[in-house]
Amino acid sequence: MGRVVLITGASRGIGAATARLAAERGDDVAINYTRDTDAAQAVVAACRVLGVRAVAVCADVADEAAVLALFDTVTDELGAVDVLVNNAGILHRQMRFDEMRVDRWRELLDVNVIGAFLCAREAVRRMSTRHGGSGGAIVNVSSAASYLGSPGEYVDYAASKAAIDTLTIGLGKEVASEGIRVNAVRPGVIHTDIHASGGEPGRVERLAPSVPMRRGGDPLEVARTILWLASDDASYITATVVDCAGGR
Ligand code: NAP
Repeated sequence: MGRVVLITGASRGIGAATARLAAERGDDVAINYTRDTDAAQAVVAACRVLGVRAVAVCADVADEAAVLALFDTVTDELGAVDVLVNNAGILHRQMRFDEMRVDRWRELLDVNVIGAFLCAREAVRRMSTRHGGSGGAIVNVSSAASYLGSPGEYVDYAASKAAIDTLTIGLGKEVASEGIRVNAVRPGVIHTDIHASGGEPGRVERLAPSVPMRRGGDPLEVARTILWLASDDASYITATVVDCAGGR
């Protein structure tokens, strides 16, 4: 395929699975991360072995200057970005809403919402035919939390993902005639490290019996959905949110 795919938060979990699958399909990949350089470099190595170009770029998506530098670096090293996967996301320890502190909300919204906004804005500025670009695709990674609400766990996180759903619908319609498709995937409970940051590493196992398919999802299953939305097979799909949650 030979596209340039930029994936935020790709040093592990769903982002890393998406990077490896994109490489397997022949795309060049940019692997963004914030902290774990070794993990990001391991994903780069796994992609290069498949014969594509791959780079790791450290950038906090919540930092506007860092996001601008991220896009410039990727463009310099791999060429113009064809696909943005807005995947970087965080959550904090599970607790009731009335126990949460405002600094937690600011950090969460900065990464999950402002970070996704910044990356989407930079992608549109570069991809839009209105600005001389040749089009592209943006896939935002939301969550089933946006419709479940995550009571008693992280209502703040769920609300941040609802913002991603609305970004997808509004931006998708806004740039639909400019060669850019904007879609989102809402994963359910997926086997990644993110649940440990919520304080419950075994959360997927606890919730699996309540999932209609009676299991948690594999990051690769989400990666396949992301890359389908980014592909020409989804050429008439935009401003759309797709659930990948085992029926949850
Ligand atoms: P994960 O395993 O915790 O990985 C998160 C990734 O994001 C890491 O590569 C991390 O890199 C990176 N990251 C964190 N903060 C960042 C920042 N400020 N700037 C750039 N990168 C940052 O998470 P995951 O489970 O794969 O989740 C990926 C996405 O799927 C998230 O948006 C999450 O909300 C969503 N999701 C996950 C599930 C699930 O059950 N796993 C369900 C629904 C939705 P460093 O470690 O280097 O910082």
